Amino acid sequence: MALKELPVVPSGDPGSLAESPNSAIQRLYRPVITDQNQVNPIILLYCPDGALSLTGDEIIVSYKLCKGCGICAKESKGIEMVPEYTGPRGIF
Ligand code: SF4
Repeated sequence: MALKELPVVPSGDPGSLAESPNSAIQRLYRPVITDQNQVNPIILLYCPDGALSLTGDEIIVSYKLCKGCGICAKESKGIEMVPEYTGPRGIF
């Protein structure tokens, strides 16, 4: 296979193994889009899990796919990483 035939980014199609109900358990932080107008669309290519998609004029995050790496928030304004869980921690 020639290099130019390779996909640009890994994909996480709905129903694929990449889509896991346990993603929330793996994340310490999750991205929250705070200002759509400031989000750079190039992050659609940067997300390693294919968790970002463009719907109309809005970029949305699929929390089923997102592993919370933070690349999108690092590379674009308008996205903040917030703690996944803010309650008490430890064994009770
Ligand atoms: S935090 Fe990482 S996995 Fe989640 S949407 Fe951003 S780039 Fe994708």
